[in-house]
Amino acid sequence: PPKEDPQVVIDAHGLPYLDAKLPVKKRVADLLSRMSPAEKAGQMTQAERNALRTPGDIAAYDLGSLLSGGGSVPTPNTAAAWAKMVDAYQLRAQATRFQIPLIYGVDAVHGHNNVIGATIMPHNIGIGAGRDPKLAERTGAVTASEVRATGVPWDFAPCVCVTRDERWGRSYEAYGEDPALVEAMETVIRGMQGSPSGKDLDRNDKVLASAKHFVGDGGTEFGSSTTGAYTIDQGVTKVTREELEAVHLAPFAEAVERGVGTVMPSYSSLDIIGDDAGPVKMHAHAEMINGVLKDRMGFKGFVISDWQAIDQIPGDYASDVRTSVNAGLDMIMVPTAYQEFTKTLRDEVAAGRIGQARIDDAVSRILTQKFRLGLFEKPYADPANLDKVGSAGHRAVAREAVAKSQVLLKNDGAVLPIDPSRKVYVAGSNADDLGNQAGGWTVSWQGASGRTTTGTTILEGMRKAAADPASVTYSKDASAPTGGHDVGVVVVGETPYAEGIGDVGNGHDLELSAADRAAVDTVCAAMECAVLVVSGRPQLIGGQLASIDALVASWLPGTEGDGVADVLYGKRPFSGQLPVTWPKSEAQLPINVGDAAYDPQFPYGWGLTTLTKTPMGGEHTLAALAVAAHAAEKAGLSRTAQGKAIVDRARLLVQEKAGGKVTAAMSGPFADADHLLLSGDLTGAVAGLRAAYRAV
Ligand code: BGC
Repeated sequence: PPKEDPQVVIDAHGLPYLDAKLPVKKRVADLLSRMSPAEKAGQMTQAERNALRTPGDIAAYDLGSLLSGGGSVPTPNTAAAWAKMVDAYQLRAQATRFQIPLIYGVDAVHGHNNVIGATIMPHNIGIGAGRDPKLAERTGAVTASEVRATGVPWDFAPCVCVTRDERWGRSYEAYGEDPALVEAMETVIRGMQGSPSGKDLDRNDKVLASAKHFVGDGGTEFGSSTTGAYTIDQGVTKVTREELEAVHLAPFAEAVERGVGTVMPSYSSLDIIGDDAGPVKMHAHAEMINGVLKDRMGFKGFVISDWQAIDQIPGDYASDVRTSVNAGLDMIMVPTAYQEFTKTLRDEVAAGRIGQARIDDAVSRILTQKFRLGLFEKPYADPANLDKVGSAGHRAVAREAVAKSQVLLKNDGAVLPIDPSRKVYVAGSNADDLGNQAGGWTVSWQGASGRTTTGTTILEGMRKAAADPASVTYSKDASAPTGGHDVGVVVVGETPYAEGIGDVGNGHDLELSAADRAAVDTVCAAMECAVLVVSGRPQLIGGQLASIDALVASWLPGTEGDGVADVLYGKRPFSGQLPVTWPKSEAQLPINVGDAAYDPQFPYGWGLTTLTKTPMGGEHTLAALAVAAHAAEKAGLSRTAQGKAIVDRARLLVQEKAGGKVTAAMSGPFADADHLLLSGDLTGAVAGLRAAYRAV
């Protein structure tokens, strides 16, 4: 029977595992050799803090970990209350025989997003649009610093999924549809953890990261007659081995290279075309977890299950437990069934259905990370760090990330940037809604409309950026008179959601709401107008595009609306590029660059820019432009303004490398590019400019 009361603490003083000077490997081996079966089972268990019958259960069941699931927050929900709460749980763990600290985990997927007052970054789709690996790293560092300040050493992020169908409700958690882009943004792991060696993890501003969801979460099939129309989240990913490797596994190989400390499997099933196995739940997928992730890729961290995911494995609970642990899961997010789980796990081991070596391997992996994090030496939060949460310096990083994430899709007549002296009419559902611009995973799991935390809305940012705040007037539904204004800005888009199918309130397709469409019609009929789409994925613009002078994909910018205002008013250039394909219609989905029939509204990589210096470097941007050129050519866009913009941008890069001047050596390639463009050979034009770039 479980011990109901905290045990008497043994005098662990002097035991080798407590010696911080010993190598981690020795400390792990020493501690492991002393642990009982119950203590080992406990280490492999993660409970939700709200599921604890009593805090004493932490010691009674020797729990290794607790989490706050989305929206499981202390009262009041402040950084200080978080630190106090986590410390109190940690104190309970000190009442176990070996005083093994808990490893507390949260979903800080765009900043420390459960905490009111924290800096909320753009969701990953915006970071992908920014295409700036150094900046992605800095956003990771900010998040880590705020999370660790509250005593939490572990973050279930980043999502290194690759979105292949934008109807997926988690599209915004992905950096994009191209695995190369996702990999480039994985610098965020360094921002969070520091050195890939793990030597920085004990710093008070670093956390353990978690690459999720392994593998193929972004590739699930859209509904079928048996699964219903909107069940793409947690569905089946049907792929060839080649596609699995190139699209879905590659970002995990990158994460392992970068030393990611934990990996979380996906709720989805994998159905490899050509194998007879049929769909296999990822939490039961031994070939992928043991075989590919651990053996082939050499992943040395630990595998944490997703929330209650083992329950979805066919069979009874004992079978769920042994199948998942034998497949390579090291810690199970139970999250409520900790009593049943620890007992079942011990029974399965006692019956020989799970080998002792597997248990020792799992526990060693977990303890290794706890030692690296310095939790044995410093289990508690350092109150001196609390003022980092939501600090001005951190908000400045987020603001820069927001500005860089903005993608200028159309700009006829150069409406943008707005001259600060102009009179601006602002309308639309998302112009003045902090909750909507932050999206899901903000304060609560699903997020919520309204002022849910501290920050600046897009409207507020615009008022600060304008020469005279009074020159910016606002009417949500565009019902106030439109006359007298020089320019209109209509901010439309989605309301918050997390997981599942997406924007339920708006009908969970990619259509704008009727109210948003009406606001666009009213404003764009009355004056020159820019439309900003605040959403987790592309929205269908359709016939309205013709009446819109400037169109911006703003994604889900988070708390720093100032960053949007910065690009609207020309304080920073527009430089974002589409991280996903922007479709014309729902019928085109799924649509991805490289598809045989590719005729999108705007191709992958698209984005007008006023930028000369490119964050990912000229070579990298030219590679992206080559992809965009290919896509645009296929879509019959070679001879349009879009085609020309791609070539102009490539040309600028050549010029930039040559110090800004057009030299005699460039005139040939530049003329060739013009010629090729005229003849519709967009790919050829960009290829020529790439060669010229290398020759400079
Ligand atoms: C999500 C994970 C998340 C977990 C813990 C699950 O519903 O799929 O991404 O880490 O909850 O909150």
